[in-house]
Amino acid sequence: MTVIAIDGPAASGKSTVSRRLAQRLGFAYVNSGTMYRAVTWDLLQRGTDTASAVVIEAALASTDVVCGIGKNRESFIRINNSNPDEALRDRSVNRHVSLVSAVPAVRALISSRLRALAQDCPLVMEGRDIGTAVFPETPYKFYLDASPEIRQQRREAEGGADQIADRDKLDSSRKAAPLKIAPDARVVDTSHLTLDGVVDAILDLLRQSGIAPK
Ligand code: C5P
Repeated sequence: MTVIAIDGPAASGKSTVSRRLAQRLGFAYVNSGTMYRAVTWDLLQRGTDTASAVVIEAALASTDVVCGIGKNRESFIRINNSNPDEALRDRSVNRHVSLVSAVPAVRALISSRLRALAQDCPLVMEGRDIGTAVFPETPYKFYLDASPEIRQQRREAEGGADQIADRDKLDSSRKAAPLKIAPDARVVDTSHLTLDGVVDAILDLLRQSGIAPK
């Protein structure tokens, strides 16, 4: 089982870097944030009170989650037979996702699905707790960061309404698998690097560990 864990706060460059890295290595790409967003979207659709962990946990009993790796070598999620891709970046999902993902039962559900994906093929997986909680045993851990100003600018340039500072605060302060740097992670500050530069830097480090790009 080979997993390259890419963690970090919102808009640190994780998605672009992880997708490009996966392509260069011939690995599948898994965006774990998408999974938490899909659960949040589904709960909101059903009018669930996202401020109540008890209500969320009860709602999970009637949540059917199917995850896999598609033909494009990227992860997908279907939830209660819907594919909410288009809605995952909605303002309402941005606003509620950190509350939902702080609930231990939600984390247990998604983490087990993420672990199952790694049984089938080598992965680059991005998230908040991949190196600390989902695959703590992987030797390939990276933590991407950038200054808060640069991250907010990047998100605004993408056109999204996303209060990333609020999400980061909640994600870092929750009890269950908070966002933090794994002691054995390599930290890469992406503030003043091109994202291709970050990919090259990570590939160099991986080469030293015996993983070579195709
Ligand atoms: O990566 P993205 O910004 O799309 O993640 C959305 C939210 O999902 C995060 O703010 C966090 O609350 C949650 N998340 C998480 N653990 C992960 C990935 C995402 O709690 N591994």
